[in-house]
Amino acid sequence: MSKKEYINIEEIGEFGLIEEIKKMFHDKHRAETLMGIGDDAAVLNMNNHVLTLLSTDNLNEGVHFDLFYTPLKHLGFKSVSVSVSDICAMNGEPIGITVSIALDSRFTVPMVKEFYEGVHIACEKYGIDLIGGDTTGSYKGLFINTSIIGRVEKERIAYRSGAHPGDLICVTGDLGGAYIGLLIMQREKEVHIEAPRATLKLEGYEYPIERLLKPEARLDIVKLLRELDVVPTAMIDVSDGLASDLLHLCTASNVGCVIYEDKFPIDPVVYRTALLEFNLNPTTVFLSGGEDYELLFTIPEKYGDLFENHSDVTIIGKILPQEEGTYMVSKSGNKYELIAQGWDAFRKYMRENPEQ
Ligand code: ADP
Ligand code: MG
Repeated sequence: MSKKEYINIEEIGEFGLIEEIKKMFHDKHRAETLMGIGDDAAVLNMNNHVLTLLSTDNLNEGVHFDLFYTPLKHLGFKSVSVSVSDICAMNGEPIGITVSIALDSRFTVPMVKEFYEGVHIACEKYGIDLIGGDTTGSYKGLFINTSIIGRVEKERIAYRSGAHPGDLICVTGDLGGAYIGLLIMQREKEVHIEAPRATLKLEGYEYPIERLLKPEARLDIVKLLRELDVVPTAMIDVSDGLASDLLHLCTASNVGCVIYEDKFPIDPVVYRTALLEFNLNPTTVFLSGGEDYELLFTIPEKYGDLFENHSDVTIIGKILPQEEGTYMVSKSGNKYELIAQGWDAFRKYMRENPEQ
């Protein structure tokens, strides 16, 4: 065995591992493949005018969700949202999804049906069909895989790679809620372990908890962009954390960026809870909390007026030439280099399961 086969996954992380796989498949066999590994969804040219989008995601028990505080119906809904979000991130329209499950011996028919009720509600919400899946057993744990197919007209597609210096950086909704929701649920789980009879204290935290358990993909924004006749120059969905995903966009586009702390959209309950109950800087939570499934996109400056004071979209910064770097300007005017501290499923899993 060569030396390189002993590299730990933790050393290179999830994205390093994807790069390694990508390098092995740089040869392309089909003219249809416009974008393979490297964006939110694969892009196939099947009939020239309309492009086909394809994306797949795994949700694994213990890594992505904890059944102690995740109702199965919510999990079904979330599984669909996560995939729809990747189609939205290409400025596309989702069409159909396959949902595959691996179940261990804890699961009963009503439990599986509860999960699929959530899938059904999501399919109805996004106007898509469940078109298949696979059902298998697992030794331990629930494993979910979703694969989604969508479409987008050639002239409306938004890759991660199209941002230009001078473009405005926009983010939808607010960020950090799902992470605070996770911290609240983990806190309640610990209380429950210590005192099983204690009732969960969830009142007042409905918003962050809903952000964690039942995120909604921003298909409404894809529709809004169409109505406004705007095509983002680049787009990505915020799944790992804003800093990490913005750096992905900048790397793919070969550009730098500046974002302004005083512009960051953070929900007031999320802000207060982060600061007062978890002793966390709300800005750090905004930059690094993952799983919000909002959209991050760039637009030419001339469209700026459309999103000034918009209820669903906030302009948080600007794209710069690559050599100017990637940084945040704080409320007090200091510059901080952006670092990707986003949620890296591998690191978290390895840290919490050192013996594996
Ligand atoms: P997202 O967070 O948008 O789902 P990822 O960071 O998981 O995106 O993936 C980035 C890119 O790498 C995508 O094009 C995805 O299809 C590809 N990718 C991830 N894992 C693998 C893998 N094991 N084999 C091939 N491609 C992969
Ligand atoms: Mg994505």
